[in-house]
Amino acid sequence: MSGSALYETFARAPLAFERGEGSWLIAENGERYLDFAGGIAVNSLGHSHPHLVAALTEQAAKLWHVSNLYEIPGQSRLGERLVENTFADKVFFTNSGAEALEAAIKTARRYHYVKGHPERFRIITFEGAFHGRTLATIAAGGQQKYLEGFGPKVEGFDQVAFDDVDAAEKLISDETAAILLEPVQGEGGIRPFPTASLKRIRQLCDKHGILLIFDEVQCGIGRTGKLFAYEWTGVEPDIMAIAKGIGGGFPMGACLATAEAASGMTPGVHGTTFGGNPLAMAVGNAVLDIVLEDGFLDEVNRKALLMKQGLAAIADEYPDVIEGIRGTGFMLGLKCTMPNVRVNAALRDRKFLAVPAGDNVIRLLPPLTATDEDIREALDRIGAGAKNLSEMAADAG
Ligand SMILES: *Cc1c(COP(=O)(O)O)cnc(C)c1O
Repeated sequence: MSGSALYETFARAPLAFERGEGSWLIAENGERYLDFAGGIAVNSLGHSHPHLVAALTEQAAKLWHVSNLYEIPGQSRLGERLVENTFADKVFFTNSGAEALEAAIKTARRYHYVKGHPERFRIITFEGAFHGRTLATIAAGGQQKYLEGFGPKVEGFDQVAFDDVDAAEKLISDETAAILLEPVQGEGGIRPFPTASLKRIRQLCDKHGILLIFDEVQCGIGRTGKLFAYEWTGVEPDIMAIAKGIGGGFPMGACLATAEAASGMTPGVHGTTFGGNPLAMAVGNAVLDIVLEDGFLDEVNRKALLMKQGLAAIADEYPDVIEGIRGTGFMLGLKCTMPNVRVNAALRDRKFLAVPAGDNVIRLLPPLTATDEDIREALDRIGAGAKNLSEMAADAG
């Protein structure tokens, strides 16, 4: 038996944190780490943001949980605010990203079902996708390493190469219900879909009566410098899953849809015990209070540019370590020349936290509230790590 009582599903770093302050995490031994991993795009407003702490503790003193059998005013309010600020007319709250995707998939299938087309249930996805770890979302993601050993893959998901719109078009049949994609792939290695491809995909969906589902679990809530990444492209989905950043660290997610796309989701067909409970809704509303403040996203874009320029200079100086920079806003990727896990370990040695991703990329997902000084500090540490790795590579010949 191994030493831990926990499932061995995570390869954890031997590091435990006790507190967080803004962009910083403080370890049990008092050491301070600059956190540009952000719980993988979850801590959208950094750690211990006073407005979020106040919202949660105020709600905690009043009411934690009531069932969705009753009205939940905080839920109605957050739903209305999401509707006001997006393409959507309807919202269903969940506890996680995968559940938001499950709701999205079910919404799309039910839409066709109530239109008299139960045979339209297949969904087209793209290689490199990540949509969660439930049985349906691993089928949607299509990654063999997540599917292996869990029995037959959930039926109804077909995958094409990343950004291969021609292949997607060829796959469309009388059974196609939806096309599902992340406007910017996160786990896949910070890979944005070209706007021209999204426009073509939208046209294909309209032509064939197919629903377009965006997964903005990672790239939503200000991460790319707009409230949602799709706003950069002018292409709107019919259904969208969100999670991560909307809770700022409190577990929550949501599925958003147009009234038409949600028309199959009638009383009793879907549900959740915890989704949309008063604690989660208090925090979600508090996150929006800040992100929707006048000028907040302008600041994110200004700081992100600073960061991207600094990173580009580091990549120019150490091409043997970093091949290039990708992404927009505070969703940035270092495409590595040497193995990304090695670069990540070197950064952690400098007390700087980032997250490895697919395609040999390191993800940088700083809090949207990171200061200019935090960014300078991050660039110093990344630059020092790259210099050291470059020298070691040169020594090794
Ligand atoms: C993290 C993530 C999910 C899954 O979210 P969970 O909360 O872990 O279930 C789904 N889609 C994307 C794009 C993600 O980044």
